[in-house]
Amino acid sequence: MNLNAAETAQTRAVAVDATTRSITCSPLEDAVRRRYLGGSYLATHLWLESSRLEVDPLSAANALVIAPGLLTGFPIIAANRTSLVSKSPQTGLLSESTVGGFFGAKMKAAGVDALVIKGSFDVPSYIIIDGDSGTVEVEDAGALWGQDIFRTFEVLKERHGEDLDAAVIGPAGENGVYFAAVIFGGIDSRAAGRTGMGAVMGSKNLKAVVVRGGKTPKPADREGLTQAMREFMVQVRERAIPWGKYGTSGGVISAEAIGDLPVDNWRGGSFPGVSRITGQTMAEQGMVIGHYSCWGCPIRCGKDVRLGVGDRAGQKSHGPEYETIGAFGSLCMLDDPQYIAAANDLCNRLGLDTISAGCAVAFAMEAYERGIIDDEMAGRPLLWGDGEAILFLLEEIASQRGLGGILGKGTRIAAKHLGPLAEEFAIHVKGLELPMHDPRKYTSMAVSYATGNRGACHLDGMTYYIETGNYPKEVVGIEADTKNLDGKGKAEIAVKMQNLMDAFNALGICKFMLKAQLSPASMARWVECCLGWPCSREDLLETGERAFNLRRLCNVSLGITRKDDTLPPRLLTHPRPSGEAAGSLPFLGEMLNWYYAIRGWDNEGMPTLKTLKRLDLEEYPERLGIKTRVLSP
Ligand code: SF4
Repeated sequence: MNLNAAETAQTRAVAVDATTRSITCSPLEDAVRRRYLGGSYLATHLWLESSRLEVDPLSAANALVIAPGLLTGFPIIAANRTSLVSKSPQTGLLSESTVGGFFGAKMKAAGVDALVIKGSFDVPSYIIIDGDSGTVEVEDAGALWGQDIFRTFEVLKERHGEDLDAAVIGPAGENGVYFAAVIFGGIDSRAAGRTGMGAVMGSKNLKAVVVRGGKTPKPADREGLTQAMREFMVQVRERAIPWGKYGTSGGVISAEAIGDLPVDNWRGGSFPGVSRITGQTMAEQGMVIGHYSCWGCPIRCGKDVRLGVGDRAGQKSHGPEYETIGAFGSLCMLDDPQYIAAANDLCNRLGLDTISAGCAVAFAMEAYERGIIDDEMAGRPLLWGDGEAILFLLEEIASQRGLGGILGKGTRIAAKHLGPLAEEFAIHVKGLELPMHDPRKYTSMAVSYATGNRGACHLDGMTYYIETGNYPKEVVGIEADTKNLDGKGKAEIAVKMQNLMDAFNALGICKFMLKAQLSPASMARWVECCLGWPCSREDLLETGERAFNLRRLCNVSLGITRKDDTLPPRLLTHPRPSGEAAGSLPFLGEMLNWYYAIRGWDNEGMPTLKTLKRLDLEEYPERLGIKTRVLSP
C-alpha cells in the first residue's frame, strides 16, 4: 500500500476496522473531494457513511474520523488544522473537535487525507501511519494503557523516532470521562479538547494514533502560492505576530475589563485578582520560558512555562491559554497563575478538556457553597479559589472516583444527579459547557452559542471579531450597521461568521488568522493554487453554509429543535453585577427569530425544503431518517 501523496496526486482515506484488525486504503473520489473539501466537512460525510446517528457514542459502532483540512500540510501560513468527528458522549450529538500542531500536516505528508476508525480493539492498541514505508499498522499498547499522555508520547518517540506526532489519550479517555480530550504534541501540547473525543478513543481501546514520515504535498501552482503567501505575510506581520508575544493569555486583562471574562461560575462582574493571572504577568514573573508554533505558522502563540506547584513543580509544560485561565482562574476565583498552570498541565497529562473541566469544578464549588455537596461527598472542602481543591478534583474526575465519577459526565448530567437547584447553575448548551466569552457582553455570541451545532462553542462563530471591529464585516458580506446593532444584525453576524468558520474547518486554517484579517477570497485563491481547482469566495462561503446545515440536519434527526437553541437560565436572566457589561442581557428569542429567517429555517429551527434544495442537501433528510413532511416547504 503506497501512501506517499507526493508521488501521486491521488488522495486517500484509510479505514481501520479495530474489531477485525483489517486495514484498507481507498482513493477519495474527486467528486467527494470537491464537494466536502476536507477537515470537519469531509469527516462528517465519511462518518455518515460509516455509522448511524442513533449509535451509542461509547460503543464500537460509533466511528471516529480524523481528517486534516483540505489545505493542511501545504506551504501555507497556519494551514495545519485537523478535525476529529464522532458522536459525542457529552452532548449525544454528532460532533467535531479540531486541533492545530503538526499532526495534520504529517498525515498529509504520509498521503492520508482521512482516517476512519470503526469497531473496537480487543486489547489496548495504537495505530501507526508511516509515510516513509507507506504502511499503516496496529501495535500493542498494553504497556502504555494507564500511562499519562506525556509519558506515552515519550515512549512512542523512543519506539518510532523523534519526527513523529501522535494523538494520545490519557487515563481520562481510558476511563470514559465524557469530556476527555485527545492531546497532540506531548508537552508542547495542542488539544482536540471539546466534546469527548478522548472517551470515544478510549471506548475503542485506542491509546494513540501515530504518524510520521512522508513528503509535503506539492501545490499545483507553486509560484502563485508563493506570491499569495508573500502578500498574506504582510498582514500576518502587521496584525498577528505582535499578538503572538503573549498569545491567547495576553487577552485576559482586556476581557475582564470589558466584561467578557466569566467570573464566579458566571455570577460575578469583576475579578479583583485578574492582573495576577494574565499572560503578561506570567511572562514578567519568569514563568514563561519559551514559545512554540504549529506547523507552518510564524506566530508562535504557544507558550512553555516552568511549573511552580503540583507534582511536576520545576518542570516544563504547556502554558495555559486564555480559555484555561478563564476556566480555572476567574470562573473558580483562583488568582494564582502557578495553580492555573498546574491544572492545565494535569489536564494535558490526564487528557481532560480544560474548558469543561474548569466549568465542572466551578459548578462543584458552587454546589459545595450551597450545601448540595458536602465534605464527605466531595472528599475534601471545595472552597472558591483553592488551587489544591482544583487539582484534587481533576484527579478524581480523570479516575472517575467519588464525586469525580459524577462530574466526569459533564455538568448537564451532574446537575440532574444533584437535583433541580443544581440545574440552575449548570452552565452549558446542549450539554457542552460554555467557553470563556460572556454572551451578555457580545450578545451576537448568545445566538451563536445557542445555535452552535456542537453546543456552546466560541469557535463556531467567533462573532466578537465583528462586534469589536477586529474583522471587516464586508469581507464576509455582513450588511448590518455594526455601530448600531439590533437583533437582526446580531443574527446576521452569527449566521455569516458560522458559515465562514465552517469554511475554515473544511480547509484546516487556524481561526486566529482572523487577526490577520484573512478573507474568504484569499482562501479561495489558495485552494486554486494548491489544488488547481477553480474556487471563488462565494464557493467557500456556500460550502461553509452547506456544512453548517448538514450538521444541523444531523441534530434535527437527533431531536434538536428550537427548545434546545437556548442559553442557561443564569445567562438569560442574571446580568453581570459590575464592570463594563453590567446590566446587559441578550434578548435571545428575537435574535433566534431573525437567525432562523436568515438561515432559511422554519420557526422551530428546521431547514426548509427550499433551503435544502438551494444548498444541494435534498438527499439528506431521507438518509438521516427525517420525514420530509415535517419540513416546511
Ligand atoms: S496562531 Fe497559534 S494556534 Fe494558530 S497556527 Fe499559529 S501558532 Fe498555531
